[in-house]
Amino acid sequence: MSIVKIKDKSFKTSIPEAEILKKVQVVADRLNKDYEGKTPVFLAVLNGAFIFAADLMRMITVPSEISFVKYASYEGTFSTGSMKTLMGLNQDLAGRHVVIVEDIVDSGFTMAHMIEDLKKMNPASVEVCSLLVKPGNLKVDLDINYAVMKIPNDFIVGYGLDYDQEGRNLRDIYTIVEE
Ligand code: 5GP
Ligand code: MG
Ligand code: MG
Repeated sequence: MSIVKIKDKSFKTSIPEAEILKKVQVVADRLNKDYEGKTPVFLAVLNGAFIFAADLMRMITVPSEISFVKYASYEGTFSTGSMKTLMGLNQDLAGRHVVIVEDIVDSGFTMAHMIEDLKKMNPASVEVCSLLVKPGNLKVDLDINYAVMKIPNDFIVGYGLDYDQEGRNLRDIYTIVEE
């Protein structure tokens, strides 16, 4: 086990890269079966999903497309606080089979919001493929058909996920060490 320090926090190895890749392959196999003959559009959510998407897509063998999207928060004059808007989607999704590629589903609010936005574009289907899910924190009714790994509620970094924008480049997944 190795320890890394990022800013004021320490993290310990939790899921090694080799194990991540084995589990990504299992989900890729399912996607290859389920999307045969459908030419799905994968929508990877930046920044967190960039490593996962790169590994997953190289295991996809059915004809497919990939696009990268991002949620930008903007502070408006809304009493409810910040709003989030989907950026980077320059594609017609009408009638298409969409697979969202996400790093982690925590409360599930982000995914629920994204699915709602995408459904307005009349896709044939929308499914979620998330590297990680924290089932203990899920606060909305959300079907995550393709979850690579389920983890406890601890904060993690690496393999695309950040702590205050650092640590995305770590090959393995690390869990925070509580002091
Ligand atoms: P949700 O809307 O599901 O609560 O939030 C999902 C987002 O919160 C993820 O896309 C990710 O950016 C962030 N997040 C949730 N849990 C973690 C975690 O353990 N580590 C990191 N780095 N980000 C997390
Ligand atoms: Mg994310
Ligand atoms: Mg983050």
